[in-house]
Amino acid sequence: MTHPPFPVKDRDDLGSALITAKAPIKLLIFNGIYVMLLSMQELLRQLPSVDDLLKEDRVKAWLVTHPRVLVLDALRTALDKKRKAVIERSGKGAQEIDLSVPAVLNSAEGILTELSSPSLRPLINATGVVVHTNLGRSLLSEAAIERVIEVNRSYSNLEYDIAAGERGKRYTHIEGILTRLTGAEAATAVNNNAAAVLLCLNTLARGKEVVVSRGELVEIGGSFRVPEVMERSGAILREVGATNKTHLKDYQKAINENTGLLLKVHTSNYKIVGFTKEVSPAELAALGKKHKVPVMWDLGSGSFLDLASYGVGDEPTVKQAMDAGVDILTFSGDKLLGGPQAGMVLGKKQYLDPIRSNPLARALRIDKMTLAALEATLNQYLDEAKAVREIPTLWMLTQPLTEIERKADLLATRIRSVGHVGLSVAIQDDLSQTGGGALPTGKLPTKVVAICHKAMSANQLESRLRLGQPAIITRIKEGMVLFDPRTLSDKEIGKIVEAVHKLLQEAAGSR
Ligand SMILES: *Cc1c(COP(=O)(O)O)cnc(C)c1O
Repeated sequence: MTHPPFPVKDRDDLGSALITAKAPIKLLIFNGIYVMLLSMQELLRQLPSVDDLLKEDRVKAWLVTHPRVLVLDALRTALDKKRKAVIERSGKGAQEIDLSVPAVLNSAEGILTELSSPSLRPLINATGVVVHTNLGRSLLSEAAIERVIEVNRSYSNLEYDIAAGERGKRYTHIEGILTRLTGAEAATAVNNNAAAVLLCLNTLARGKEVVVSRGELVEIGGSFRVPEVMERSGAILREVGATNKTHLKDYQKAINENTGLLLKVHTSNYKIVGFTKEVSPAELAALGKKHKVPVMWDLGSGSFLDLASYGVGDEPTVKQAMDAGVDILTFSGDKLLGGPQAGMVLGKKQYLDPIRSNPLARALRIDKMTLAALEATLNQYLDEAKAVREIPTLWMLTQPLTEIERKADLLATRIRSVGHVGLSVAIQDDLSQTGGGALPTGKLPTKVVAICHKAMSANQLESRLRLGQPAIITRIKEGMVLFDPRTLSDKEIGKIVEAVHKLLQEAAGSR
């Protein structure tokens, strides 16, 4: 007779034995946790207190050069970081964390540097996108910067008529030059182009209908949507036509006694191609005249220079746009114009007068820094050759390819000169973008410097450059990090070379 290895009852016994056997293990684990908890408490107790740190010579020196609140903040944050690291790594090497006073102070020093440096700061735009909205759009010309400094260092005639010895108007400083450059009857400027559109619609079409093509109900960047701005202005949107085609008769049919405005919007950041039809500004202007309804054109970018003659895009100039016969034009100050953030409003005096005296105009007005920079930039346009040389946005757009090539050579040669192992550097043909919703489909031929490294991914290279001081913003394409010299000065090229050398040396050192 074969016996089962043990009776069923015994199996139960075995089960309970296992359970009892588990008990001491549990206890052991519990003891383990208990032991670990204890050691964590001990580790945390090793950390110096803020009071201890304040007695250190290094901290005393910081207090001479930095506000006390920032020093305290840095010390507390550094201690907090150490504390968190100990808790996170308890049982997994928390013992190895350096909790000494010098280690805490090293960490605090980095934090203090970060806390003490301005949040808004310069960086290097190596993307080749000239009017890069996230990176501050246009760089001011040296002339504009000088005027901003000069006017803001002292009192000024911002709203004072020196000849008459009485109150003056802040917009007189730019109206003359704006009308001279564009042939407009009257002109003013507000905070930005979104504000200009809002102000015009509110003045001319509050409670009235604004006729606009369905193909032009655009969203520009983060938050500027034509239909939404219109709603906020109190105007009533009257969409006509289809997305791809709008005819003159569509506008005509929509006009009634409650029509306040015919609006044309530059489709800045996209282009409808193929089976399309849009009504020209001149046709719209004629229709408006016939029905005694003002016609407005939101140009978006607005260039004073015939960029097409430099091989850049095919946009009309502001003067050509004015000549089309529309009543009001709006455009940005910091897109193709290359000046400070502002929104230009140009047009017939009969419309500009109520626009300027609208109470909203006060809420949307520009300040003296903008006015100083704008006046200086506009004056530079009186001499076109000078404008192209001296207004950074214009120069970056129109510089010859040979100049970009020279800068690419300089950058590539200097990066190669050190002979980093594993690094490849090449000059490639590529395309730069205008950006800022200007020339949506127009890309500019450029020469980029492309680098990659055997021991580092393009993403790692890109992020190290971005997190450096100064931050260097690049593009990644096909596993390579690209530097587009279109938006780089020689001085910035030097800084990029330094940064690349530094990060590759550090990477080599850590391997
Ligand atoms: C860019 C743009 C705007 C907004 O201009 P901001 O100066 O950024 O306020 C409005 N309309 C069009 C067509 C644009 O291209």
